[in-house]
This record gives sequence, structure tokens and C-alpha cells, in this order.
Amino acid sequence: MAELKLSCQCGKVQGIAHDVSPQAGNHVICCCDDCQTFAHALKSATPILDEYGGTEIMQLPMSSVALSQGTEHLACLRLKPKGLYRWYADCCDTPIGNTMHGRMPFIGIIHNFIALNDKREQILGPVLAYWLPQFASRPPPINAKHYSKARLLWRIATKLLGWKLRGKHQPSAFFDEKGKARVKAKILSQ
Ligand SMILES: [Zn+2]
Ligand SMILES: [Zn+2]
Repeated sequence: MAELKLSCQCGKVQGIAHDVSPQAGNHVICCCDDCQTFAHALKSATPILDEYGGTEIMQLPMSSVALSQGTEHLACLRLKPKGLYRWYADCCDTPIGNTMHGRMPFIGIIHNFIALNDKREQILGPVLAYWLPQFASRPPPINAKHYSKARLLWRIATKLLGWKLRGKHQPSAFFDEKGKARVKAKILSQ
């Protein structure tokens, strides 16, 4: 298990993800159109999307992610009133991660928020799959080691259940104990 340093690109928002290993999370590239819309809504200095329109994400238990500084720059965008909470650093428009509501125990940390870490590849492990490749801007390379959709869904579901049973939705840098988002989300469609 390793610690993963987290930082926005300008360095004002920083944090740590604890107990990270390839087995401890789900390392995927999401090609869905909502992730692409979020990426286009930010003015990040470094690219968020890969050449296929995918967003590299490490899905981890919510309670393993802590912000150590710059929380005044924490901001949140929802594409629709009931959409995912898409967190970012408003100092430099670095995407931080995606969550559901405050009782769901996971966050998908977006690669731009993962600081340069020694052994990044060993800590995150290989990408397991391109998720929803039908939304990719061009067909992503699906190699033989990638998980099938059913296998990935099973892995995500069993991890979520385990995190839920162990109460990993708290403590959270993003939701208070009552499950309320720590900052008011902007709604993109309004
Ligand atoms: Zn920043
Ligand atoms: Zn997505």
C-alpha cells in the first residue's frame, strides 16, 4: 500500500490518497460523454482527455482521500441538477474527481490531480478497461488484458459493497457528516 500525492497544477490545492495499490481501487479510462463535457467546461492547462476522448480515473474509497491545503479553492460542477458531483480546483481548473452523493463511499480521482509520484505506474497498476468506449472520439485500443464490461462491473460492485459496509464514505473532504456537499455545486445546464 502506498501514499499517492495529489496536487492541482498550480499547487494551491494539495492532498494525499492513502493505502493505494492496484488492488485497492479501479484504474479505468472513462470515455462517457459526460466526462468529456466536464473536461471541455474546464480551462485546464494540461489536457484532461486522451487521444480517444477518455479520462483516466483511479476509483478509490472516499475516506482514503484527504485534502491538506487549498480547500478554499475546492469547487464543484454538476452537468444536470441530479448529475454526478464533479470536483475541481478553481485556482487553475484542475479536475479533482467525480463522486455520487455523500453516502456513496467512492471517488474517481482524475489523473490531472495526481501529482508526479515515484512509482506511479506500480501504485495505480495497469488500466483495467476503457469504460463506455462507444462514446470515445475514436475507437480506443482494447487489449487482451483489459477487463470485459461484465468483469469490470462485478469488480466495481464488490468493491463498492465492501467500502459501503466498512463506512468508507466518511471522513470525506467533499461531504460533511450529514452528507452535504462542502461547497455549493454549479449546475452547467443553467
Ligand atoms: Zn490550482
Ligand atoms: Zn465518464
